[in-house]
Amino acid sequence: MSEKTPDCIEVPTDSLEQWQTILDHLCSVAKIPAGLIMRVKGDEIEVFARSSNSDNPYRIGVKEKCQGELYCESVISSQKELLIPNALDDPKWRNNPDVAMGMISYLGLPLNWPSGEVFGTICMLDQKTNSYDATQKKLIELFQKTIETHLALLMEQSLLEDKIAKRTNQLQDINNKLTLLVDKQTTAELTIERQKSRDLETGLPNLHQIEAIYDREINRGTQNVGMLHIRIHNFISIRDRLGIILCNRLKVLIARKLTRLKIKDIYIGCLSEGEFGVLLFSQDDDFIEHAIKIAQLLSDKLQGKVNIDSKTFNVAINIGLSFNDNNENFIDLLRQASVATSTSHEKNSNFEFYANHLQNQLSDRMQMEALMFNALENNEFHLEYQPFMESKSGKIVGAEALLRWESPILGRVPPDKFISVAEHSGLIHELGYYVLRAAIEQIAKWGNIYDSAFYIAVNLSPIQFKDSQLSMRVEQLLNRYQVPASSLEVELTESIFFDDEQDTLYALEKMKEMGINISLDDFGTGYSSLSYLNKFPFNTVKIDRSFILDIEKSEKSQHLVSAIISMANSLGLAVVAEGIENNHQASFVKSLSADICQGYFYGKPVIAEEFAKAHFNARQAREIH
Ligand code: C2E
Ligand code: CA
Ligand code: CA
Repeated sequence: MSEKTPDCIEVPTDSLEQWQTILDHLCSVAKIPAGLIMRVKGDEIEVFARSSNSDNPYRIGVKEKCQGELYCESVISSQKELLIPNALDDPKWRNNPDVAMGMISYLGLPLNWPSGEVFGTICMLDQKTNSYDATQKKLIELFQKTIETHLALLMEQSLLEDKIAKRTNQLQDINNKLTLLVDKQTTAELTIERQKSRDLETGLPNLHQIEAIYDREINRGTQNVGMLHIRIHNFISIRDRLGIILCNRLKVLIARKLTRLKIKDIYIGCLSEGEFGVLLFSQDDDFIEHAIKIAQLLSDKLQGKVNIDSKTFNVAINIGLSFNDNNENFIDLLRQASVATSTSHEKNSNFEFYANHLQNQLSDRMQMEALMFNALENNEFHLEYQPFMESKSGKIVGAEALLRWESPILGRVPPDKFISVAEHSGLIHELGYYVLRAAIEQIAKWGNIYDSAFYIAVNLSPIQFKDSQLSMRVEQLLNRYQVPASSLEVELTESIFFDDEQDTLYALEKMKEMGINISLDDFGTGYSSLSYLNKFPFNTVKIDRSFILDIEKSEKSQHLVSAIISMANSLGLAVVAEGIENNHQASFVKSLSADICQGYFYGKPVIAEEFAKAHFNARQAREIH
């Protein structure tokens, strides 16, 4: 059974249009002015469809109350045909409302839904006496059947729609219930999964999860992966004082400190009691430097006092770092990091690298570059001074400033290695100015205390000449420290001439104009040293160490050195012989009258204080006030 009563069933427009046509046919065949389909709704009856001829006085939608006086009411209640040829002749119908509209004859038939419920009527009305002949009666009966067939179809359709709607609702219900169930199931699974992958107290990923993250990143092709292992090394003693339950608070506290730092591209995990792991990822070349910064930051932020249960504890932390540079699997990476943590504990340092890694890195220019980046700021560079001995007086008249880098990670790095890296990265500019400033400052100090004629030679890289302000900035430094230009010498190698000859020449001439000495270093090792001697404004040539080294064994070298010296003399250039290590070399060079001698024989490069102690006579010191 339909939930709806037929009363509620809408008659669609296309059916209504057909009914209208039926009524039009009825009227035209029967030659009457009004054909109507009436529909009952509650206690009213309305004009539902009408023939469209203009003399039809009935309008669609017009309603009458059912009070027993209408023709149609009678048809409905009797469920039979009603024929009234002339209402005026019949006292029962004489006063009905249709008569008032001039309709005195009526023929009507009931219209019902297939369920037997009343729809209304189909009827014909005429202004004149009309007994409606057999054909007209047949026609209206035919139309009554047609409309009732329509009603049956409508009802069936409505029932079907109801069924479909009901079924759809049921399916929706089932669907909702299923979704709820699935949701519940998923939430439960997630909770279980979460418990499997998280540390219960801190909510941080646990060891398994960190391993899964590591594997995921490796599969994605992430280049640089680092493991930072953090151990609270006094965790056990804190736990003994607090007990296991309260000690969990310490774990949570440290976890919170870690997460609050909001460092990007890292994953923090709680590995076990008092142990955390931080995975670092990067595609950048400065990865090591980045890792060091993080290690330093964590060491700063995590150490120190914490308050738990009104007791104060000093949290002491060690950090170890390892990198997947040999495609280590997660377990190995973690093991290496934890070995480094133990080393950091032994050495009482903030953090340590896994040792193998350190060695690998030494040869790695990229990593060196990364470390150098902060080295200047961290005061990891200093200068050492190696004396120049004047042959004729036997006095120390100057020194060559040689740059030194003491890296906390790599140890002492030789300049042969790091200078080329600095040239490559462009850091040579900053580094070069540091050397110039430190050396000029040193000349000022020594000039004031010991010997105003004392000079320092500074090595300049060809890259530094790419800075068009080089000569101007050197001048500014000399002015700032009140140092005469003649106390500064710059040493250049032949590689300086490979590009931008004109710019280099311009800068060199500027310096020469100021009064700075210009020296050609490693003379004889290049291809065309001689041609440059003419072209550029040198004051001095430094005979390369390799010739001096060979002097004892090779006559050829002796001749070469001798030829270089006499040629330089004839060009009016001073000669420095470098790399003199023993007496034999020293006397040979002296015999050829080289102006200046340099080498371990006279003194190794040492820091300023030692240089002063070794080479300046205390009596030489002048009072300065
Ligand atoms: P260089 O300019 O030829 O410096 C001389 C090098 O020979 C120094 O090495 C010095 O320690 C070493 N040496 C001096 N006397 C002797 C000796 O008697 N025997 C032996 N075996 N070696 C001796 P160092 O300090 O390692 O410097 C290497 C190179 O690094 C320098 O060669 C220079 O080219 C470069 N360098 C050093 N400091 C600077 C700097 O401040 N700027 C630039 N651009 N380059 C620098
Ligand atoms: Ca030099
Ligand atoms: Ca040299």
